[in-house]
Amino acid sequence: QDRNPNEWEFQQAVREVFDSLVPVLVNNPSYIKQAVLERMIEPERMITFRVPWVDDKGNVKVNRGYRVQFNSAIGPYKGGLRFHPSVNTSIIKFLGFEQIFKNSLTGQPIGGGKGGSDFDPKGKSDLEIMRFCQSFMTELSRHIGPDTDVPAGDIGVGAREIGYMFGQYKKLKNAYEAGVLTGKGIGYGGSLGRKEATGYGLVYFVEEMLKSQGSSFKGKTVVVSGSGNVSIYAMEKAMQFGAKVVACSDSSGYVYDPNGIQLETVKKLKEKENKRIYEYVKEHPEAVFQEGCSGIWAIPCEIALPCATQNELNKEAADMLVSNGVKAVGEGANMPSTQEAIDTFMEHHILFAPAKAANAGGVAVSALEMAQNSARLAWTQEEVDTKLQDIMKDIYSKSLKASEDYDAPGNLVVGANIAGFVKVADAMIQQGVI
Ligand code: NDP
Repeated sequence: QDRNPNEWEFQQAVREVFDSLVPVLVNNPSYIKQAVLERMIEPERMITFRVPWVDDKGNVKVNRGYRVQFNSAIGPYKGGLRFHPSVNTSIIKFLGFEQIFKNSLTGQPIGGGKGGSDFDPKGKSDLEIMRFCQSFMTELSRHIGPDTDVPAGDIGVGAREIGYMFGQYKKLKNAYEAGVLTGKGIGYGGSLGRKEATGYGLVYFVEEMLKSQGSSFKGKTVVVSGSGNVSIYAMEKAMQFGAKVVACSDSSGYVYDPNGIQLETVKKLKEKENKRIYEYVKEHPEAVFQEGCSGIWAIPCEIALPCATQNELNKEAADMLVSNGVKAVGEGANMPSTQEAIDTFMEHHILFAPAKAANAGGVAVSALEMAQNSARLAWTQEEVDTKLQDIMKDIYSKSLKASEDYDAPGNLVVGANIAGFVKVADAMIQQGVI
């Protein structure tokens, strides 16, 4: 805490991982002797930079860019870029730190990194977005590469932004290095199935968890927060599995549709028209819109999938979910539940799928995109989806096994943290003190 004052989100993420590791450290004193934890919480490199750009009125604007290259023990740094006004050092470091363990869990050879900017894409024109992305990449390009660091999207960064950044990178390097970014358009090196991967992967993971209790998504009532990339495809797969999704949200509020959310309307509003979620009720008058995001957790459901942002689900929300009979919670966003909320779910024996494991499908398919780029070929949607399903099942069983091996059977928070940690820690030790 003394070394990272005011970095609350980063401290929260580190505490959650380290609390899980006590039994591992007791069994393996070499991790302590080799100062693995101390090394792991210090990023290999943290880059901040100026991002100047010109708006449509000719005004010069300045934002701050970030890239944390946290850990490269098992592969090139890998992790998304977030464009949101709340972005700061703490948020980038918490995301980068979690990414180390998540990427390890995927079984793919990728290290941990993350980046972004406090730039707010809301209300910006397409040309403003392009100029910002070009300026951001002008500096970032010095630090990344297909074998060094491979960024992707996150909040506020989708295929459009990745396209503009890829174009600028290519121009600066005078080389077609397709594997430098993932989440690219399908026509120039993107992978089929990447757009859907985080949301689908989340539902595959939660389905495995439910199966262990003789249950499934079929016939269940589901609430999903957010209405961005992760939420939309989590809703889609949950519906395909026979669930009824009754609510979703954005940062303005949430919609509750007793007939079940009409996903085509959400896709149209969010993926095509860039509109707010309250527009949904204009097309579906039986639905209601409520301002404010946290109220979504008061809607009775059996499965809750927080897919918007960090700390969106606090103790009060967890208490409401529990008293309304929730059976399972799956984290699609990164660190969406506060520690008190997680404790509440654990106390009440609610099935809980932590983000590091449950939302790893996106980065896993990003690694598959890198593999396709290296091999200069493209797999079909079915091939990618089959691999994604196998990866999510594998992450589930690895996390469960680690929880059983370390006396916390079924506690997937502990299991995922331990399983992710051991692989990276062993690689760090084998590579010496660097
Ligand atoms: P998007 O930008 O596509 O969507 C984010 C959604 O969350 C939007 O509906 C947005 O509403 C809402 N939201 C964002 N910030 C807030 C906030 N402060 N309060 C309330 N709602 C908010 O992002 P993604 O779907 O890509 O990412 C969502 C989460 O999933 C993030 O935590 C991200 O780190 C995580 N994640 C994403 C992966 C991916 O592959 N995309 C992979 C793994 C994790 P609004 O539009 O109003 O801002």
